[in-house]
Amino acid sequence: MGEFELIRRHFQRPGRNLPGQVALGIGDDCALLRPAPGHQLAVSTDMLVEGRHFFADVDPEALGHKALAVNLSDLAAMGARPLGFTLALALPRADDLWLAALARGLFALADAHACPLVGGDTTRGPLNLCITVFGEVMPDRALRRDAARAGDDLYVSGRTGEARLALELMLGTAWASGHAAPGALQRLRSRLERPTPRLALGQALAGVAHAALDLSDGLAGDLGHILRASGVGAEIALASLPLAPDLSALPEAQRIECLLNGGDDYELLFTAAATARGAVAAAAAASQTPVQRIGHITEGSRLRLLDAAGHAIGFQPASFDHFA
Ligand code: ADP
Ligand code: MG
Repeated sequence: MGEFELIRRHFQRPGRNLPGQVALGIGDDCALLRPAPGHQLAVSTDMLVEGRHFFADVDPEALGHKALAVNLSDLAAMGARPLGFTLALALPRADDLWLAALARGLFALADAHACPLVGGDTTRGPLNLCITVFGEVMPDRALRRDAARAGDDLYVSGRTGEARLALELMLGTAWASGHAAPGALQRLRSRLERPTPRLALGQALAGVAHAALDLSDGLAGDLGHILRASGVGAEIALASLPLAPDLSALPEAQRIECLLNGGDDYELLFTAAATARGAVAAAAAASQTPVQRIGHITEGSRLRLLDAAGHAIGFQPASFDHFA
């Protein structure tokens, strides 16, 4: 199977281009997208590298899902609607069954969010997937990291920490396997391998929330990006963080580590004016996505974690850094 046969067989899907948003798809030198008049183009790229972001024996269908999910999550965090995506693929060999499974995972999620594959590049090399997503958003509605204001409420969607616990269980870490309830890995594995991009919530929050981002490297470290970009601080009440049943069995230090430094959550963290509580609740209901108020934005630049009595808990945000 040559390069062009591989693309035709696994990635070209004639008739699935959604002409309202894609004028020209795979096959020419460029794809042509049609953002709605008056909208801005939202663009984001994320790369997944074997041995760094996934294990060599990963289920290819889950890999296809995750590669697109982490990119769609960025559009969600901007309040954008997807238009299409490109896929740059380096493969050690052309394995038909593996590629078919990858494409299945990819296209199931793409179809669910009306986000067609419009182009890419294919080369031989160490396994590596790089996806670029394109979306549209109204100029004054994009959810930027620099838009948080002192006095804003702070919210998180879903719950954090389960992907981290799944990862530690897969790695056989003693504190995880020593405390997890039976069956925890089977329950949690999909949180790591098949994250849900919160697109409906992000779009419902556009024009309602102030700042937002999606959680990929841990709540506390990612919140730091909003705090620095906006020139503000924050307080989080530990007891208000949504707690997955599988995390409640962990000792407190590891529970806090999973909740706040976990990584791979792909939930939305966002701020909104206290006067917008009704509108945030309506956005959560309309998108059928659980949302929890976990604290608020303050003057200054510090992040403080508070216990039930309002006392600060010592805690070190440890956001993931590939070069640290
Ligand atoms: P070019 O030489 O212009 O880079 P290519 O020969 O690499 O074009 O690709 C031919 C067509 O197939 C282009 O439209 C390109 O976008 C598309 N394509 C290549 N690889 C992929 C892929 N992995 N997924 C989707 N489309 C792809
Ligand atoms: Mg090319």
